[in-house]
Amino acid sequence: MNESGLCLSGTVVADSQTVVHDGAVAVEGSEIVAVGAREDVLERYPDFPEQSYDVLVPGVVGGHIHSVQSLGRGIADDAELLDWLFDHVLPMEASLSAEEMRAAAELGYLEMIESGTTTCIDHLSVSHADEAFEAAGELGIRGVLGKVMMDKDSPDGLQEDTEEALAETERLVQKYHGSFDDRIRYAVTPRFAVSCTEECLRGSRRIADEYDGVRIHTHASENQDEIATVEAETGMRNVEWLHEVGLTGEDVVLAHCVWTDEREREILAETGTHVTYCPSSNMKLASGVAPIVDYLDRGINVALGNDGPPCNNTLDPFTEMRQASLLQKVEALDPETVPAEEIFEMATVNGARAAGFDRLGKLKEGWRADVVGLSTDVTRATPIHDVLSHLVFAARGDDVEFTMVDGEVLQQEGTVTVADAEEIRSRAAEFAEQYTPEDAPVAGSAD
Ligand SMILES: [Zn+2]
Repeated sequence: MNESGLCLSGTVVADSQTVVHDGAVAVEGSEIVAVGAREDVLERYPDFPEQSYDVLVPGVVGGHIHSVQSLGRGIADDAELLDWLFDHVLPMEASLSAEEMRAAAELGYLEMIESGTTTCIDHLSVSHADEAFEAAGELGIRGVLGKVMMDKDSPDGLQEDTEEALAETERLVQKYHGSFDDRIRYAVTPRFAVSCTEECLRGSRRIADEYDGVRIHTHASENQDEIATVEAETGMRNVEWLHEVGLTGEDVVLAHCVWTDEREREILAETGTHVTYCPSSNMKLASGVAPIVDYLDRGINVALGNDGPPCNNTLDPFTEMRQASLLQKVEALDPETVPAEEIFEMATVNGARAAGFDRLGKLKEGWRADVVGLSTDVTRATPIHDVLSHLVFAARGDDVEFTMVDGEVLQQEGTVTVADAEEIRSRAAEFAEQYTPEDAPVAGSAD
């Protein structure tokens, strides 16, 4: 943390409605103490050293991420959800050793820190969850993490006994919820209704109620085969079923919600359940287009997420913002649909609400100092008539040069300061070799 204070100057995008050109953000300890015109802020804090970046924004919140799938980037392109999951991604997750899980998590958090995600709602795997919690804590990212539970119709290596899954979840809640200066919190994480028994889902609610601030994070209604499976087993639509077993409410984050009917949407709105929109994943797995405009009209809080590297294939939050808007525009055949301001809110303050952290998602006096600085020194950023438009439609994660969480600098002038990025990448690449698809082209010289 910056006990001595720091002044960050540049074009300050404090929130979707507030841009201060030639502005500054003063940070002391883990909090923002001033936001305003550069001259005024520097005058108030003359002893704080100044660092300048072209554009300063609130840290982005990844509302649904799988950091530990990072070794599987590109292993299962061109497949639909259930084949993608059961034939490729779950076997990979099942095979990861503790050391490989650590490497995968570090790679995921590194990519997020480099590209501007400062908070993630992270769906881990069944085993070795401690590795990801430790990696997140050591790298300094803010996160709501959870060990995945799968106690039915799951592949070998992932299928668990219900009681053991719930007991392991409770052990992790006690160990990590509120850890690393409360940057790391817990979300009880049943994978999805297809692979979890009623007992497991009801047990998830019981644990979340027992521990203050613990959330629930799961997938819901991403794919039509998935909802047909749940309906055949329970006689209910997927979100109705989750509601029946207690998995809706203001502490619940449901990823996707692509295929919902009128009653399910009413449930989401009435219960204050958060929805995370993952447009790249929904497009790449050909799952469908989530009815985001309708959700927003109903007052449902919609966050934005990249999902996992095997279905995206990046964790770049700026590219995701662009996809988020374009997909809704083409679905509505209306160019006014979800403009840049609305998308920016999903990626910041809405995500913070879903993650359950207060004073997060805006650059504001008294709020948590999660700040990202971007360079606009690229042709793609010339000219910038409207900085919100630039951030959503033209910026990329590669433009991010500065990343701060709780006042701690994780990346400065384009270099990650909390870890050896080269070492993380090379270790991950080595472990990932075993997952190279058999039909991948082999290296060789061209004739
Ligand atoms: Zn997912």
